[in-house]
Amino acid sequence: MPSAPPSPHTPPESETLVRIIDCKQAYHKESATDLVVLDNVNLTLHSGEIVGLLGRSGSGKSTLLRIIAGLLTPTSGEVIWKGKKLTGPAAGIAMVFQSFALFPWLTVQKNVELGLEAKGVPAAEREDLAERAIDLIGLGGYENAYPKELSGGMRQRVGLARALVVHPDLLLMDEPFSALDVLTAENLRTDLVELWSERKLPIKSILLVTHNIEEAVLMCDRILIFSSNPGRVAHELSVPFDHPRNREDAAFRQFVD
Ligand code: ADP
Ligand code: MG
Repeated sequence: MPSAPPSPHTPPESETLVRIIDCKQAYHKESATDLVVLDNVNLTLHSGEIVGLLGRSGSGKSTLLRIIAGLLTPTSGEVIWKGKKLTGPAAGIAMVFQSFALFPWLTVQKNVELGLEAKGVPAAEREDLAERAIDLIGLGGYENAYPKELSGGMRQRVGLARALVVHPDLLLMDEPFSALDVLTAENLRTDLVELWSERKLPIKSILLVTHNIEEAVLMCDRILIFSSNPGRVAHELSVPFDHPRNREDAAFRQFVD
């Protein structure tokens, strides 16, 4: 007997993207003993999930993101990316920064194309991919604007488009909304969650560092909490099934109306 076709509602099989194994990071201090920032951190990220990372300022959140981005080699321990030990920046991992990190002398279009240039994508294809990422993130029409002509929220949209244009499996976001005013942050968050829920983002997973517990509950499937120094994962919370991200959810509508 042929087996039943898969239900359209069955999520695709989850894939392990990142495993962080016993990661330790100590920064060398000339005049004092080394500062241990991460001590024995272990965590696993899967496709299909948005994971939040909360913790006090100085608890090592950005350090961990830099390690996963391959920008920093941990003092000990390892990062396994899709089954292989990470030794530097991996194709398939992109990052969005708190301070946007745009090049002021380049247009929106050129800022977004940068990630593709590094990968050797031909010019015509770069242009097309960048335009699509810019449209997706709601900045269609601003391709030729310069960062200084844009509001903070629009600049962060450029930062997002630049990360998305390479279609990364994993998107690392380091407090992406914290430089924005409350309403602007709310708009960008809502758009991002909507695109994710509608599966329009060309990514498989997000690791979101945030200070804001409400934001983490709204956006994430799981939340990891770093204890203060040294940064260990102290708690893991799972957001309940009737996730507020699901905008059809009646209870949540009641809550926000
Ligand atoms: P968080 O993002 O949680 O605020 P960080 O990872 O940025 O934490 O920093 C953790 C600690 O490590 C802080 O005390 C910070 O001053 C220190 N630190 C971060 N980067 C460096 C560095 N490159 N050299 C020395 N100390 C650093
Ligand atoms: Mg930080």
